[in-house]
Amino acid sequence: MSALALAVSPDHFIGGERVASKEHFEDISPIDGTVIAEISRGGAAEADAAVRAAHAAFPAWAALGPQGRAPYLHKLADLIDANVERLAEVECLDMAMLLRSLRARVISRGARNYRAYADLAVAYEERDWRSNGTWNRVQRMPAGPAAVITPWNAPFMLSTWKTAPALAAGCTMVLKPAEWSPLSCSLLADLIAEAGFPPGVFNIIQGIGEEVGAALVSHPLLRRVSFTGSPETGRHIAVAAGANLVPFTAELGGKGPLIVFEDADLDAAARKAAGQYDDSGQVCLAGTRLLVQDSVRDAFLQRFHAYVDEHVLGDPREDATTLSPLIHPDHLARVSGFVERAREAGDTIVRGGTRAGGLHYEPTLIEPRSNDAEVVQREIFGPVLTLQGFATEEEAVALANSTEYGLSGIVYTSSLGRADRVGRQLRAGTVWVNTFLVRDLTAPFGGVGISGIGREGGNYALDFYSELKALQILEGTVQ
Ligand code: NAD
Repeated sequence: MSALALAVSPDHFIGGERVASKEHFEDISPIDGTVIAEISRGGAAEADAAVRAAHAAFPAWAALGPQGRAPYLHKLADLIDANVERLAEVECLDMAMLLRSLRARVISRGARNYRAYADLAVAYEERDWRSNGTWNRVQRMPAGPAAVITPWNAPFMLSTWKTAPALAAGCTMVLKPAEWSPLSCSLLADLIAEAGFPPGVFNIIQGIGEEVGAALVSHPLLRRVSFTGSPETGRHIAVAAGANLVPFTAELGGKGPLIVFEDADLDAAARKAAGQYDDSGQVCLAGTRLLVQDSVRDAFLQRFHAYVDEHVLGDPREDATTLSPLIHPDHLARVSGFVERAREAGDTIVRGGTRAGGLHYEPTLIEPRSNDAEVVQREIFGPVLTLQGFATEEEAVALANSTEYGLSGIVYTSSLGRADRVGRQLRAGTVWVNTFLVRDLTAPFGGVGISGIGREGGNYALDFYSELKALQILEGTVQ
């Protein structure tokens, strides 16, 4: 099915209206490489129009207060739930995530994001206390128009996760989705219109990052910039936001360790390790560095290989498929480039290391010659894991903390003491013990080092989209 058959608009959504650009760019489906849409290629003019629309809509949206805004977010959530099938089909066609995961949980997580933040903003209390002869109160003001830039690997889920707190806190928005998977956010624009959001509250512009994205994040009328993507792009956006003294938050790349201690449930650990190939490794949080205690290496690897053997590369629309094609020919070239350089440098390719037809790449395991190897130190964002051994807990922690990244870590152990000890020592924003990807939406989420700046999740995100004010009233002077 083509995007045309699915009736997805290729245009921007600015001030409540569809707006087309003169220029377009091709959107290809990773499933078969066909061009599925010609998307409006925005530039400085579209970025400016969208920010101005958000700026004009801001005072009235802010004045509604959390209770007044919540019904809009709930309505949008209901519409997402009512359109799961359509959103899932489009997302699958556009970026090749497994259709059954999209149907079962990924799209409905978007609805959960809007509901959760609508309710959190209502419950977000102002704090009062007395000191030094005054009444003190923390008041929160919505910050103003915000820009949100999202990556291609989970376009719908991440866009909803990032725009929900902004809208709930009273900001108006300009969202710029990634050019490799722009379609589900275009459908989101239809749902925003249907939900009755006032024009200009939630704008979506399409285009190339260096063009419309760069123009957007340097716009002087913005009051917040929120980004999810690579550290390289994060640096550019930080400079643009910094030049305007605009608060900036960034969720960036990862190179997480998955540590298997000898006291772990080895079968569960091996199954989860093989699961790090899911979505063909295009997951920022993935535990891509397997660190396995020497004493259980063979027993672990035997199980790991058996689980990886169960993976089925194929069409993401088919139920039997577990591994999808990579997003784009350029990305496939990037992933295989890492493996080729590793091979030439003398790292051992334990399994995989080859293309598998179309944009598929075999699940690959590499034993690096040293911890300095490029495949250990750089995010690959494909189905490529590394394997390293360790003898002691100290060694495991040192290896885990030995990259510039710090987004996530996964630990397999049956000892609570070790879980707590190692958890505290890992330099990462999120650590999972004996599980992976389980999320409480009120927990902080973010990265350490080049994995990010700031925290999303719960009130942490609401704080970012608010200005906090200290109100102090001299006691006895008012009644
Ligand atoms: P990317 O940095 O290439 O692009 C991300 C977005 O930034 C896109 O919308 C792109 O158009 C835009 N962009 C590019 N240059 C820009 C510029 N100069 N100004 C403004 N916008 C610009 O990242 P990607 O390849 O789309 O995504 C993969 C990366 O995202 C990986 O590093 C991955 O780990 C990371 N990621 C992080 C998280 C997280 O929560 N930490 C989640 C998903 C993905």
